[in-house]
Amino acid sequence: MKFTGDTRVLTVSNQKGGVGKTTSAVNIASALAGLGAKVLVIDLDPQGNASTALGVPHSADTPSVYDVLIDEFPLAEIVQPSPEDPNLFCAPSTIHLAGAEIELVAQVAREHRLRRALQDYLVDNAMDFVIIDCPPSLGLLTINAFTAASEVFIPIQCEYYALEGLSQLLGSIQMIQKHLNPALHLSTILLTMFDGRTRLAQQVAEEVRTHFPDQVLETVIPRSVRVSEAPSFGQTVIAYDGQSAGAIAYREAAVEIASRIATQSKEK
Ligand code: ADP
Ligand code: MG
Repeated sequence: MKFTGDTRVLTVSNQKGGVGKTTSAVNIASALAGLGAKVLVIDLDPQGNASTALGVPHSADTPSVYDVLIDEFPLAEIVQPSPEDPNLFCAPSTIHLAGAEIELVAQVAREHRLRRALQDYLVDNAMDFVIIDCPPSLGLLTINAFTAASEVFIPIQCEYYALEGLSQLLGSIQMIQKHLNPALHLSTILLTMFDGRTRLAQQVAEEVRTHFPDQVLETVIPRSVRVSEAPSFGQTVIAYDGQSAGAIAYREAAVEIASRIATQSKEK
């Protein structure tokens, strides 16, 4: 696949935990890298699950996104290559990031720190995609992601009341648009952990497609044991079992994302 040289910055957000944010962030990133794109994943969750899945060290003494946000380290000093693909990179999170939410409050330009660091980084490190994995909250870490990105990517789990809490998230996006980042928009919704045998999953999928016809990807990610096993091997499912249903679905979703025209992704 050909990439244009413009950088698309997507933030994977949903204030619900366990909906597939991290799984989607790392698997879409790996699949895009497999298509020939250069991809940076920024792990903004203190849990560090994205760093784990990409096989990148993130013990407490590893230079991390914390140092970028709080001590103004250049992003280039903390980014590591993922062993999974030569096109794939990760800015790891460490447990220190848990304190950043509070430490940021007292900082100058606290909402813009990630955006500035990323802008500087991209001058010397061309990337086709930057994918930010957010924690399950709408605090300052997520606000930094919203300020640095132009596209919001929302994974929705097809099992629970999927739309519950979504209006709060959309409200936050509107607030950010108004006050911090006019370019931010909801570009992509991915239905995850889909079990086609249940009526509820089908209802949820229909409901989300009715509300967001332009944003929901055609591809649906099935619930699959292989997907959930992969992180314990420090791998995405793309590397762990590339022929599994989950890997195939994530690759198809990545093709859809790459094929969509990046609207407003260059304005910053
Ligand atoms: P979040 O980042 O939103 O908290 P995760 O991506 O960590 O969510 O996913 C939550 C849990 O669900 C993890 O244990 C993950 O392995 C599992 N999971 C995610 N997607 C799938 C899937 N398609 N099939 C099976 N398990 C999945
Ligand atoms: Mg997560």
